[in-house]
Amino acid sequence: SEQGHDDLLAGLNPQQLEAVTYRGPALLIVAGAGSGKTSVLTRRIASLLRAREAWPSQILAITFTNKAAGEMRERVEQLVGDAARGMWISTFHSACVRILRREAEQFGFTKSFTIYDSGDSRALIKRLVKEHEADAYGLTPASVQSRISKLKNELSDAEAYARQANMSDPAERIFVELFADYQRQLQKANAFDFDDLIGQTVYLFRAFPDVANTYRRRFRHILVDEYQDTNHAQYALIHELTRPASADAPDPYASSGMMIFEPETTPALEGASLTVVGDSDQSIYAFRGADIRNISEFERDFPGARVVLLEQNYRSTQNILSAANAVIGNNFDRKDKKLWSDKGDGDKIIGFTGYSQHDEAQFVADEIESLRRAGYPYSEMAVFYRTNSQSRALEEIFIRSAVPYKIMGGTKFYERAEIKDALAYLVAVANPADEMAVRRILNKPRRGIGDVTATAIARFAEAHGITFRQALSVPTELGFGPKIQAAIAQLDAVLAEATEIMLPATGEVPAPTTVADGLSVLLSKSGYLDALRASRDPQDEARVENLDEFVAVARDFARNNPEGTIVDFLTEVALVSDADDLDDESGSVSLMTMHTAKGLEYDAVFVTGVEEDLIPHRISAGEPGGPQEERRLFYVGITRARKRLHLSLAMTRAQFGEVSVAMPSRFLQEIPAGLIDWRQSPGDVNSRGGMQSRALNARRAGGFGGTGGSGSGDRFAVTPLPGRDSLKPLSTAMDKFPNRVTAKMRDNGDLELAPGDRIRHTDFGDGRVDAVTGEGAKRIAHVRFDSAGQKKLLIKVAPIEKI
Ligand code: ATP
Ligand code: MG
Repeated sequence: SEQGHDDLLAGLNPQQLEAVTYRGPALLIVAGAGSGKTSVLTRRIASLLRAREAWPSQILAITFTNKAAGEMRERVEQLVGDAARGMWISTFHSACVRILRREAEQFGFTKSFTIYDSGDSRALIKRLVKEHEADAYGLTPASVQSRISKLKNELSDAEAYARQANMSDPAERIFVELFADYQRQLQKANAFDFDDLIGQTVYLFRAFPDVANTYRRRFRHILVDEYQDTNHAQYALIHELTRPASADAPDPYASSGMMIFEPETTPALEGASLTVVGDSDQSIYAFRGADIRNISEFERDFPGARVVLLEQNYRSTQNILSAANAVIGNNFDRKDKKLWSDKGDGDKIIGFTGYSQHDEAQFVADEIESLRRAGYPYSEMAVFYRTNSQSRALEEIFIRSAVPYKIMGGTKFYERAEIKDALAYLVAVANPADEMAVRRILNKPRRGIGDVTATAIARFAEAHGITFRQALSVPTELGFGPKIQAAIAQLDAVLAEATEIMLPATGEVPAPTTVADGLSVLLSKSGYLDALRASRDPQDEARVENLDEFVAVARDFARNNPEGTIVDFLTEVALVSDADDLDDESGSVSLMTMHTAKGLEYDAVFVTGVEEDLIPHRISAGEPGGPQEERRLFYVGITRARKRLHLSLAMTRAQFGEVSVAMPSRFLQEIPAGLIDWRQSPGDVNSRGGMQSRALNARRAGGFGGTGGSGSGDRFAVTPLPGRDSLKPLSTAMDKFPNRVTAKMRDNGDLELAPGDRIRHTDFGDGRVDAVTGEGAKRIAHVRFDSAGQKKLLIKVAPIEKI
């Protein structure tokens, strides 16, 4: 190779070096958190390109999120520049969508198929459960959905399942019917659900060897990050792709007419070289069908595979690592590997027990502010929790304390009803066969078209062999009264107009902004926006803002993808996953679940809600291997931290409108006491000592033995909730820290504040205003309190008055 490798290999330890430079059919890199697995994968790609051992288009790299894919691509481009163009670096789902869009016509779909996210498929399943009257057999939409998903992840289908199911059981028969019907409906709608994206690609490769051979010849190097979380379908996909192409397979480049250099080392007919990296201690998706055996049996599946182990952690200080090692050491059935770091002990882990979740959140907000003053940027701090609903208390306190934050995942923008409606409008244009999308917008805004009318339209379409959408184009034939006829004609006209804008006749070049323009037409001419604007519901105001934001997203997309079509746009939106936020403003703290945190790293990390029933989560109790998977999840959480780790919990937690007493998580006990500096420990807190020892006694008494019980979490029943008496000191504590958030939100919109003003805050006491920044509802007072230190307060809602 002409260009040097030195910068690529600089600073690697010997094992990393081997992982980057090894050449052979199969390479497995197993190592704990932060040991450079992802970095090694990235450099390996760069090294293949730099040495001209591979053409960019011969590389397929799989990451766990789109965001991770973007970062990897950027890193490779930094290392090798333009030579990186044409690589496929993407998630499993994105890669399969690309393949399916090219090949869908082979098996009865069109290129513009819709992707159903889990909400979409839930809606379809709900309808089918109703139609099949399946609830009479105890089948709920949720249970049917998760069973279907599980089966698809194992590459099973309704037919295969029926063959080994007990079909004399009526519930099983109904389930098989539902599954088959669900699949028929998807096909009819020209749609794939998330699991199908993978499963149908595998099917495609198996049923059409020519297609498979094309991709086998194309991809010479396949690299997979986070391999411990692949499920069987993903495993099969990798297997299909790494098989040798048969000798008579067409050469995909033969007719391309492109000048390419001849790859030097990889004979074209050998199977692709496969590199996978993973950490079985970070396997956290078993509940979604991920199979740790994909790692442990790698050597059997790929004979002759080279295995490289990495042990040095480059991310965290030793105190953080020691805590992580101690926790994960409690999982049995694992290979012991001890991570070490040469970064020194670093700061101790900080522990805090709040009286309530708001008190806990206030601790987090205060710590964030003091770290900020110590020079940590907000973007280098992250707050993790086990369940999405825990974010609310944090958000409320952050808003009041003017801590800028963003939520990764959570109540996702794309899950809001109004955005779903807008998307359905777009889908109705892009893929008119998608009956569910067309039905969704039929009466949005209200047009007086109810379920009965919709069913009649569907029946008409069925009888005439046309689609639901086509039936809307012949409103006078449908046999409805003039009002409904007019409403349908109007909807049809709006869809037709948008179609003309977004899908111009072949040959015409669409202008770059057409998706946004088409969307605007759909939202305004359909009357959707007007209906929201006319409403008095303040939530509808927010909905209008969200839709504006969505149109802005479409414009951004057009700017970044001058040739992007409506189908490209819908694909991008459908694949936005938990860890991806389109609005990636720096300068804010990231909030996310521990699942979403996988693979990421931050200078300062807050793991909140470290309580029994949350982590380990209540539902894990009855699952085989459940508590062990929860321990891995906690391990993932704490190993994200570079320098500062905070573990916090609350004594009481309000959930679903009930306040319950929370117990410290068993995982806290697994961390050597000397590593944690408790600011306010479970023991310090009034009444907490009693609760904690009760929890410990229960554990010693074998209450946590995991008897493979009913799954109702009843093994916690051995720890009785405190009776009235023991609740007393608790409520005194609560009085000291009134639950600020459930109090009615105040509105200080008019309060004028200037530097030098003295104010009084209900919790922090008196203080002096140093500065006022921001405007309108976002005005922030920077206050130096006489005893509570410096705070930033959102003036509009802070409980303050001028004195
Ligand atoms: P995880 O298991 O959490 O996904 P990982 O094994 O993929 O972690 P990386 O994210 O690749 O680890 O690396 C962790 C950190 O260590 C990164 O900041 C990376 O830049 C750094 N790093 C990796 N290898 C080295 C090295 N040889 N020298 C210095 N820093 C390194
Ligand atoms: Mg990684």
